[in-house]
Parts: sequence; C-alpha cells; structure tokens
Amino acid sequence: MSDKKDKIILTQIKQDFTTPVDAIADYINLIIEANSNYDNEIKEEFENIKKSAKILRVNFIEAFKDFAEQKSKTISTDEEASILRHDLRTPLNGIIGYSEILIEDFAEDIEDSHKADLGYVINLAKEVESAISNFVDFLKDGKRSLKVDEVGDDSVDSLFSSLGKIEFEFEIKEDILESKILIVDDNKTNCDVLERRLKSYGFLTEIAISGKEALKLIDKNHYDLILLDVLMPEVNGLEVLIKVRKNFDLDKLPIIMVSSFDDVESISKCLQLGANEYLPKPLNSTILLAKVAATLERKALREREKQLLDELHYQAVTDEMTGVPNRRFVFEKLEKSFREINEKKKEHFSVIIFDIDHFKNVNDTFGHAAGDEIIKKVSNVVQSEISDPNTFGRIGGEEFLAIIYNSSENYISEICEKVRAIIEKEITTVDNNDIQVTVSGGASITNESTSISDLINKADERLYLAKKNGRNRFYLNDG
Ligand code: GH3
Ligand code: MG
Ligand code: MG
Repeated sequence: MSDKKDKIILTQIKQDFTTPVDAIADYINLIIEANSNYDNEIKEEFENIKKSAKILRVNFIEAFKDFAEQKSKTISTDEEASILRHDLRTPLNGIIGYSEILIEDFAEDIEDSHKADLGYVINLAKEVESAISNFVDFLKDGKRSLKVDEVGDDSVDSLFSSLGKIEFEFEIKEDILESKILIVDDNKTNCDVLERRLKSYGFLTEIAISGKEALKLIDKNHYDLILLDVLMPEVNGLEVLIKVRKNFDLDKLPIIMVSSFDDVESISKCLQLGANEYLPKPLNSTILLAKVAATLERKALREREKQLLDELHYQAVTDEMTGVPNRRFVFEKLEKSFREINEKKKEHFSVIIFDIDHFKNVNDTFGHAAGDEIIKKVSNVVQSEISDPNTFGRIGGEEFLAIIYNSSENYISEICEKVRAIIEKEITTVDNNDIQVTVSGGASITNESTSISDLINKADERLYLAKKNGRNRFYLNDG
C-alpha cells in the first residue's frame, strides 16, 4: 500500500473514531448543561460518561500518534494488539455501562429526551467499537505491510484457478444511482465506451472532448464525479485537475484520473494534485465500476455526515421549543464579543435581559401548554425584530437575552420600547382564550462593566427594578 493510501485510510479511521466520540461528549454535555433537577447520584453517572469519553479520546489519540504517525512502529504481537484494544475498550465499556445503568435503573427519574439521547450515545458507542477494531486490525503487522507486488503472477493464477469461475455481480447502492458523471477525453471512442459502460450501470453521463470544454461544463453544471483523461491537447488533464481543485475539494467533486501512464511517479503526482483515484488504461470494467462506485459512495457518505453534523450543531445551539438560539449560543456569542472589545476588534455594545410578567399566572389560568404557546410567540415576535448582527435567544424558562451591537442609550431605549410595545399588543389565542402578556427588562452597556457577570448582573438588577416598579417597562440604568 502506498503512503498516500495509508494516510487516507488512517484519516478515515481517525474520523470514524473521533466523530462518534465527540458526538457522545456533545450529547452528555448538553444533558449536563440542561441543569435538570437530577439528584447527585444521577449527575455523577453523567459525569462518569463524560470522563470516560475524555479518557477514550486521549487514549486513542496517543495510540494514533504512537503507532500510526510513526510508520516504524507497528503492532507485531497479539499481546500488543490486545493491550491496545483493552485501553480503548475499557472507557468505551464505561460509556455503555453507565448509559445503560441510567436508562434502566433510573428510568423514572430521567427526562424522556435525555433517555433518547442516552440511546443515541449507546449507538454511537457501537460505532466507536467498530472503529477500534478497524484501527487495531490496520496496525497489525500483516495487513499494514501487505504488498501486492510481492505476490507473484504464478501464485495469482493458481489462486484464481483454485477458486473456479467467479460469479461476479456488483451491487450499486441506490443512493449513488443516477449520479452525474462527466467523462473527459479527447478520444471520442474512449468517451463512447466509457459512456456506454457507465450508462449500463445506471449512471448519468456527459462528455467533454477537451480540457477547455470540461472546465466550461464544470463551471455551469453540477457533477458528482469526473473521469479525467491525463493526455489531451491544449489544456491537459493535470491542468484541469489543478483548476477544479481551486474551487472544489475532494469530497465535493471527486476526480478519477484515467491514463495509460501507470508508473508510480505519475500516479502519485495525480494524487498529490488532488485526484481521488487513478485508473490505468486500458480500462478494465470491473476496476472501473468498483472505483467509480466506491468514490461516489464516499462522496454520498461525506454529504450525509456533513448533514448530520450540521443538524447536530443546529440542535446544540437552538432552543428546541421555540427555534430561537439557546442559552449556550447566546452566552458563547456574548463571551466572544466581550473578548473582542479588549482586542479592539469590536466597539462597545449592550445587552438586554427581559422576562415575561406574571407568567406563572398564565400557566395557572390557562395551563402549561398555553404558557408554552406564549413563550413561542414572544420568541418569534422578538426574533423578527432583532436582526443580524444583533443576537437574541431564550436563556431560561420565560427569560430572554438580546445582544445589541450599539452602545447608544437612545438606540437601546428605542429597541426596548419597540419590544415592550409589540409584546403588549400581541394577542395569542389558545383554546378560544385570548391571552395577552407584557414583558419587563433591564439593559446594560459593556463600557460600564469589566466582566460579563457584572454586565449581566447590572441588567438583571434593572430588570428586577422594572418588576418592582410595576412591570411592563425597561430600565437602562439604576436611576
Ligand atoms: P414575574 O413577573 O416576577 O417574572 O413573575 P413570573 O410569574 O413570570 O415569574 P416566576 O419566575 O415566579 O414564574 C415563572 C414561571 O414560568 C414558573 C415556571 O413554571 C414557568 N415556566 C418556566 N419555563 C416554562 C416553560 O417552558 N413553559 C411553561 N409553560 N412555563 C414555564
Ligand atoms: Mg416572569
Ligand atoms: Mg422568571
């Protein structure tokens, strides 16, 4: 196996390992940060999972550094393999064990959504388990140093003849069928043959008979894969490759180079320049299909992965009930912006904290579900009033925080009045009841505080004052 291939496999293994481990840590952190009223015994179990995930990650990264990045070191004995496996499995078993204990022994005490999260954690742990097996297998002497060219022709022949006739049927996964493939070759016959083969498998194809034409088409259309001939007049395949890689990375638009150069040098050059794969001419249909399918599947997988990560990220920063940014997001933004004032990257700005008045009465009078509707309404109405770069989110039950990138009292005062006034006249109808609420708030400006906690305290004190003095009002100072 080539270094480059080793690297690709290792990167894959690393990713297959770290993606679920990090997701486990994310889930658990979210549960811990949710501040549910769990007793200490339960909290401790969550902390245990968090600790195990941390240990697991550290152990893996250390092993990865020791074994994988230094080529000289490989696992040569079964004992070494089992020690490594043990180091990784132990914290993993911890994660699974603690999660199961929580689900089974504390079923009554744990919120349903957290139970579902623990289910995800257990599934993710299973993914980690197979990543560990792949890692250990890869590092084992035999697999890592297997050299294809050490197997002589005679033995290949005898190997295959001993197998008898191979019934070959390649299954193309549904999610890559109808992928759009651009075939680039200056030889029309080559294009035609390739096109017919690929079409017969169910792919969609288009042809470019020069590098120039290929670049034009790629500029205009979407393709899932390019099969690119190296030798072409005017603009050759390598030039096309370099140009395409400026705009699309390997996962976005995979490229398989096709050429009769089959020396190691030119293959490695192509890979260095950003080709995903290399196919030697004359084309063998099995190798063609296997590589095309594998490349397309990898692309589809990356896309799904990215989607999942985006979703996970969205969930991590969004308040589930209202869809507005959550406490974590708002406070992280606040901390970042506050730091940036010191670094002179940002001007002073303001925060407004506000809270629905007598909200307990809404719950008591109209029920909790009606209360939820009011929280959603207030969130959405205010959200549409506060636009980028300003930030608004729900930081607690019926409590909200807005970051306004402006330090003028007049300006903040106008925004507060706007929020106060629209909420006041908003009517929410639930079960034929017209419900109206008001909000009270307090604001503070970063130039009056040297810390975020002080900034928040000041706004909170003013909010308290607004409540004390009759509610449905906002205060910008202590006066
Ligand atoms: P004040 O004007 O002083 O803010 O009075 P209040 O009644 O609004 O304040 P208090 O803090 O006493 O009560 C807030 C209530 O909000 C208590 C809690 O049960 C309720 N609450 C918190 N989160 C939610 C939620 O997500 N949905 C519903 N329906 N109620 C919630
Ligand atoms: Mg309230
Ligand atoms: Mg309150």
